[in-house]
Amino acid sequence: MKKKEERTRRTIRAAVFVLAVLLLCAAAVLALSRHADRVMQTGGRGSPPILVIDAGHGGLDGGAIAADGTKESDVNLAIALRLESIVRFFGQKTRMTRWDDSAKTDIISYSEREDLKERVQLANTTPGAVLISIHQNDFPTGQPHGAQVLYSPWAGSELLGKTIQTNLIEKLDPGNRRLAVPAPGSLFLTANTRCPAVLVECGFMSNGDEVLRLKDGRYQTAAAAVIAASYLRYINGKTA
Ligand SMILES: [Zn+2]
Repeated sequence: MKKKEERTRRTIRAAVFVLAVLLLCAAAVLALSRHADRVMQTGGRGSPPILVIDAGHGGLDGGAIAADGTKESDVNLAIALRLESIVRFFGQKTRMTRWDDSAKTDIISYSEREDLKERVQLANTTPGAVLISIHQNDFPTGQPHGAQVLYSPWAGSELLGKTIQTNLIEKLDPGNRRLAVPAPGSLFLTANTRCPAVLVECGFMSNGDEVLRLKDGRYQTAAAAVIAASYLRYINGKTA
C-alpha cells in the first residue's frame, strides 16, 4: 500500500514537472514570436520604419556641375524619385525632403544652413525615420570614380551604409574599391539627424564617363533599385 502511494506521488510530481516545462516553453515561444512581430513591424526602433529620402541640393543650389552642364541636384532628384516609387511599391512609407527642383527655404531667404536644418528637422520629427540622402561626388581632377556611402554615428547607420555600399558594388560596379565610411562630423545632415542616416554619393560629377551613366535614366533606375533593395533588407534585419 505504501509503495503504491509512493508511486502515485512520484507520478504526480513527474506530471507537474512536465506540465511546468511545457508551460515555460509555451511562454518562451509566445514571447519570442511577439518580439519577432514587433521587430518586423518597427525595424526594431519602436515605430514602423519610414524612409526619409533627401535629394541633395535643389533650387538655387545646383550642387556640383559637370563639364557638360549637368547639375548634381537634377541627378540627385531623378534617383531620389525612383527610390521613393520603388520603396512605396513594396508597401513602405516614405517622405521626401523635396519633390522638384526647389530648396526647402524660399528663394529670397535662401541659406544653405537653413535649408539643411529643414531637411534634418523632417527626419527628426518623423517617428521611425531612416534617412537616405542622395548626392554625387566631385573632385578637382577627372579620374576618381565610384559610388561611396557615408554613414552617421547613429545606431544602425553603419549597417545600412555598408549594406548599400556592398550592393552598389556587387550589382552595378564590381571594379569600385571604395568602402562605406563614417561621415565627417562637419557634415551637417548626418551630424544632426537623430535616426539611422546615410549619405549616398552615387558617383563623380567630375568624371566624364560616370556623368554619362549618372544622367542615364536606366542607370538612375538601377541605382535606385539597389538602394531600395538594401533598405528593405536593412529594415528586415538582414545584412548585405
Ligand atoms: Zn552634393
